[in-house]
Amino acid sequence: MSAAPPRIDADRLLKRLDAFAAVGATPRGGVDRQALTVGDREVRAMLAGLGVARGFTVEQDAAANLFLRRSGTDGALPPLLLGSHLDTQPTGGRFDGALGVLAGFEVLEALEDAGVATRRAVELAVWTNEEGSRFLPGCLGSQAFAAGALSPEWAGRHGPDGARLGDELAATLDALPGAALRPLGRPISAYLELHIEQGPVLEREGLAIGAVTGIQGTRWLEVTITGAAAHAGTTPPAYRRDPMVAAAAALHRLAGVMARDGLARLTVGRIRAEPGSINAVPERVVLTLDLRHPDAEALDAIERMVREELGQAATEARCEASATVVFDMAPVAFDAAMVALVEASAAVAGHASRRLVSGAFHDALFLARLAPAAMIFVPCRDGISHNEAEFVEPRFAVAGAETLLEATLRAAV
Ligand SMILES: [Zn+2]
Repeated sequence: MSAAPPRIDADRLLKRLDAFAAVGATPRGGVDRQALTVGDREVRAMLAGLGVARGFTVEQDAAANLFLRRSGTDGALPPLLLGSHLDTQPTGGRFDGALGVLAGFEVLEALEDAGVATRRAVELAVWTNEEGSRFLPGCLGSQAFAAGALSPEWAGRHGPDGARLGDELAATLDALPGAALRPLGRPISAYLELHIEQGPVLEREGLAIGAVTGIQGTRWLEVTITGAAAHAGTTPPAYRRDPMVAAAAALHRLAGVMARDGLARLTVGRIRAEPGSINAVPERVVLTLDLRHPDAEALDAIERMVREELGQAATEARCEASATVVFDMAPVAFDAAMVALVEASAAVAGHASRRLVSGAFHDALFLARLAPAAMIFVPCRDGISHNEAEFVEPRFAVAGAETLLEATLRAAV
């Protein structure tokens, strides 16, 4: 251990964020650097080059996940893994993903600069295709790492630009010939991911750091309410079987119940009346429900309540309702000791924090299946993300990196 403790070089980190944001920069100040494109390959090569220059081991796997490892003193121990992603949405921002990767690299450099020896190796992972905007599924790289394999049907999928996923993966691997290919998956001791909050809570409360306790579950239902088409002018209410009346009644009651649970979220993002004539009672109303809750049992209870309310409202309007689950992602609770470690690390770094649940998916969801995991959130302006206007105050980017460094020092011993 050297005399001086390791410290984050704020200037170096902020300049790196600028340099990486220049790759795929959009005229309106955002970034378009979708997964496995030429731009994605360029930033992977930039990071690999920085890693080689610092003497770190650079490897990649069949999912084109990229790894930079700073060795520990005990090679028999599984490494501590830090990570995030470098791909963006088509009109994405400068910080979503890139902040976690570049802060992770800054942590490795800070350890190196101070000559700090950690018992475990500290490894930085860049996960492939977190966003899922060009190819499905999102979080492809972290899912493959957690499963130890690529799903066979992924390679044949095509993006909206016509590109085939298997071809783009191969070209991305070929573009980095200096990085040795290693098997998918590997034992790790723990996982830490720094990310922007993508919501308004930390900013509104004036806090620099969020200690993320978990990622809420998401369940999507497609609901069909069937009645009978009728003339809009000649059919009195008593003779109608109007599915829109049933939908309105059910949604009104559900919104009231959901508003009383501060953690529950219910969203109708799509609704369609069929046949869709301005002067006819519709025969059918089809709508989507996006349900979210951090607790699995609560999410089940919400689905039951939704089905009951829909059934009752449909009966009152002399209609029939059915609902099908079309997507189901279970919630994950992060390891309690890791969440406490993040809180303690924020305090040591001098930053106020609070606990919060992530409303969005992250690669950490899949890493939490392998090892104790946790996330560090920093505020972003107005909670805006997946948007070219996304912005993180430099002091919050630095606070996130400082918290990540303190957590790394504690987890890598
Ligand atoms: Zn992200």
